[in-house]
Amino acid sequence: MSNLIARSKFCLTAAMVLLVHSWIGATAENLRYSPVSRDVVETRLVKYAGNNKQREATLKQMFAEAGCDDQHLSEQPVKGSKLPNVICLLPGSSDKVIIVGAHFDRVSEGDGVVDNWSGASLLPSLYEAVKIEPRKHTYIFIGFTDEEQGEVGSHFYARQMTRDQVAAADAMINMDTLGLAPTEVWASHSDKRLTGALAYIAKQLNVPVTGVNVEQVGSTDAEQFSDRKIPRITIHSLTQETWNAHILHTSKDKLSAIRLDDYYQTYRLLAAYVAFLDQVASIPATPNPH
Ligand SMILES: [Zn+2]
Repeated sequence: MSNLIARSKFCLTAAMVLLVHSWIGATAENLRYSPVSRDVVETRLVKYAGNNKQREATLKQMFAEAGCDDQHLSEQPVKGSKLPNVICLLPGSSDKVIIVGAHFDRVSEGDGVVDNWSGASLLPSLYEAVKIEPRKHTYIFIGFTDEEQGEVGSHFYARQMTRDQVAAADAMINMDTLGLAPTEVWASHSDKRLTGALAYIAKQLNVPVTGVNVEQVGSTDAEQFSDRKIPRITIHSLTQETWNAHILHTSKDKLSAIRLDDYYQTYRLLAAYVAFLDQVASIPATPNPH
């Protein structure tokens, strides 16, 4: 069990930031977004209680409280699951789309806080952060059902997308298992430009982000979007140390396993990142001059 996780040797904040500069030649100076307070993030995190049905209802309620009204908030029935995906739509001015997702279901061991209420409960707070101003992209925030049963909710969602919807999807940002450590990216299973944009924003905010590959831990919802050739990125917090602590899918998956400083920092980073992607996600890659 000692080498399940291979930490990427490359430094995200050097090579990847260069990549973003050559890609967009832009800065994040004009970035407008409004992150919620740490208090709000933690209030949502502690609402993990209950079975999957209760958690689905809690997520929907939190979206509503965050301002996602009846017109934009929906439950998508999912074939093969007793529970729906929860979807909050933030319309933009173009037909381009950014999808932000996290699964809300849990396994029976532990409290399912790390895996993955830590990701799901951030969705309404990310919605709040970007909704303060008109965006070009339409944002689709999705709480997926039954990831633990084989990515059932994300599989259904990705498969029911039409060809046009797939073409319009510039990015899928997946959050799974946050708060055990500073922000990590599953670099080997993430789009290089999306990873570069994250490293760029992290540098602007002066918060850490590194690449930790988790092929041997399992899979996650983003892979369903990759299968449809949609650029995707998975954010997590697993390291060799946190993996060795045997927290996932055990009785140790409790609120006390979350490092709240790291968790809020991950939120702040993602709030800026999700807003930033509106400016850059549609820009085609410039060919490498070398
Ligand atoms: Zn998970």
